Amino acid sequence: MSHHPTIAVVGSGPIGSAYARLLLEGLPDARVVMFEAGPQLTDRPGESVRNIADPDEKARAREMSQGPQAGEHRESLGIPAATAVEGMFTARQGTHLFDFGGEGSAHARTFPAAAGSTNVGGQGAHWTCAIPRPAFSEKVDFIPDDEWEDLIVEAERLLHKQNAAFADSAVGRGIRSLLSEEFDGELPEGYGPSTLPVAGDPQPDGSMRWAGADAVLGPLIEPGSPLAERFELRDLSLVRRIERDGDRVTGVTVEDLRTKQTAFVPADLVVVAADAFRSPQLLWASGIRPKALGHYLTEHPVVISTVALDGERMGRYATEDELDAELARRSANAADPVAAVNRIPFSEPGHPYALQVMYSETTPFPMDPGHPLANNRWGYVNMGYGMRKFPRYEDAVTFDDDELDYRGFPNMTVQYELTERELTEIEAATERLRRAGDALGTFVAEPRLLPNGSSLHYQGTMRMGATDDGTSVADPWSRVWGVDGLVVGGNALIPTATAMNPTLMSVAIAVRGARKAVEELSADTAASVTA
Ligand code: FAD
Repeated sequence: MSHHPTIAVVGSGPIGSAYARLLLEGLPDARVVMFEAGPQLTDRPGESVRNIADPDEKARAREMSQGPQAGEHRESLGIPAATAVEGMFTARQGTHLFDFGGEGSAHARTFPAAAGSTNVGGQGAHWTCAIPRPAFSEKVDFIPDDEWEDLIVEAERLLHKQNAAFADSAVGRGIRSLLSEEFDGELPEGYGPSTLPVAGDPQPDGSMRWAGADAVLGPLIEPGSPLAERFELRDLSLVRRIERDGDRVTGVTVEDLRTKQTAFVPADLVVVAADAFRSPQLLWASGIRPKALGHYLTEHPVVISTVALDGERMGRYATEDELDAELARRSANAADPVAAVNRIPFSEPGHPYALQVMYSETTPFPMDPGHPLANNRWGYVNMGYGMRKFPRYEDAVTFDDDELDYRGFPNMTVQYELTERELTEIEAATERLRRAGDALGTFVAEPRLLPNGSSLHYQGTMRMGATDDGTSVADPWSRVWGVDGLVVGGNALIPTATAMNPTLMSVAIAVRGARKAVEELSADTAASVTA
C-alpha cells in the first residue's frame, strides 16, 4: 500500500460523487479518479439539465445522455449506429431503455421501462430532486437510529436539501390545505400533507437551481480548490473490469471511448456506483458473483394521474390576487414547469405508500383545446403514488456469459412479477389517489398504473446485509463480502421494501461506507509509514 492511496470511482452520479468528495475530504494524501462511460453535458460537471434555460440546449443535453438511444450522437458515444426497431417505446428524456429492442439490447419484457442515464452526473442530471427521508420499516434495521440520523443529515447537506421549496406558493398552500381536510384524521402526527424536501438552492427570483452531482462534488470541481487538484474526472471512459489478485482488488481496466484504447489503472480501493443494473453487471463480468448479485430487485410501482385544480375550492385558501402574482412569477421562469411540490409521506401502519403532488400550470400532455378544463386558470397537479415491492430472490437481473450486449458485457435479462401483496397495496393507494383528486378538483387523466420499471428507482440488486448468509452482496459498510478493496454504492444497496424516492437514503448509506473506507485507508497508510 502506498502512502498516497488511489481510489477509482466507477460512475459519476450522486453516489459516486459522494464517495469522491468524502474520501478526498477524509484522506489528505489520497487521489480520486472517477470514470464515467457517458459524456460531460455542461461546463460545470454533473449539473442538472433542468437548470439549462435554452430549450434546444436542454434537449441536446438530454439526448446526449441516452446511450444506445442517443440518435445522431450514438457514434460519438462509442456505440455503433442504431438499428431501428418497430413498436419500441421511449424512455423518459435523458434516459435510455435497457431493453431498447435493437442489437445487443437487454431482455426485460416483465420490466419493460427499465432505464438508465449515461452521462456525467448520471440520472442525477435529470432527476426530479425529491429527497424525503426513509421512515418506519423503510430504514435498515442494522444501522443504529442515532447514527442513521447523523448519516441522513450529512446526506442532506451534500445534496443541498431544501425543506421549504416554493413554501410561499399560495397555490401550494391551497393544495396542502385541501389534502389535509381530506386525510389528516387518518394519518399519524407529523405524517400529513406537507412540502416535499428537494435538492437544490432557491434563487432570489423564486425559482430553484436544482442540485445534480455538481452539488455533491462541491469543492472537487471548484477551480483552484486544493481538493480539485487531487480529483480527476474522465468522461467517455468505460470501466470494463474490476481486476483482482486473489481476493484483493488491484484496480480497473478502462476503455477510453474516444480512442478505443484500453488501459489498467491501479487502485487501492474501487467504488462501483454505476446504477442498479450496470453495477452488478460489471461485478459479474469481473467474475465477482455472490449468490444475491442481481437478485431481490425492487422498485416502486407507480400510479399517476393529472387533476385540474378547482378554483372555488382553492379560492378558500388562496386569493385571485395571490394567483395572479404566482402566475406572473412563473412566466418569468418558463424553463421550469414545476411550481410547487407537496406530498403525503409513507407512514405505518395505515399509509405505507408515498404521494407526490407536483403543481404545474400546464398538463404534461397536450389537452384538446375544446376540453372545458383546457387552460384551467388555477392550473393542474400531476400526482402519483409510489408503492412498495417486497424483495424476493426470483425478481432479478441475470447475466448471460454467452450473449454479449451492445457494449460487450454479459447481457441482462430481467425477471420480475408483482404479487398479491403488492397488488393489494396498489389497489388501496389508487383508491386514495382518487380521493386526493376529488378533493383537489377534476381528473383530466385518470389514475393508471405505469409499466414495471417506470419509477427509475431500482433497488436491491446489490443489497447490504448484516451477515454473509447468501441474501446480500455487501456488508453493513457497503464492502462486497469476500473481496478486499471493493465498495459498492447506489439504490441497489437498499435491502428493504420502500416507497420513498431513494437517492437520499443511498447517499446516507454511502456516507457510512465512505467513513469506514477513510478509517481503513488511514490505518493502512499509518501502517505503511511505520513499516
Ligand atoms: P446514476 O445517477 O444512475 O449514475 C450512474 C453512472 O454510472 C451513469 O452515469 C453511468 O453512465 C455510469 N456507468 C455505468 N456503467 C459504467 C461503467 N462500466 N464505467 C463507467 N461508468 C459507468 N431519485 C430521487 O431520489 N428523487 C427523485 O425525485 C428522482 N427523480 C428522478 C427523475 C428522473 C427523470 C430520473 C432519471 C431519475 C430520478 N431519480 C430520483 C433517481 C435518481 O436520479 C437516482 O437515484 C440517482 O441518480 C442514483 O445515483 P447513482 O450515482 O447511484 O447512479
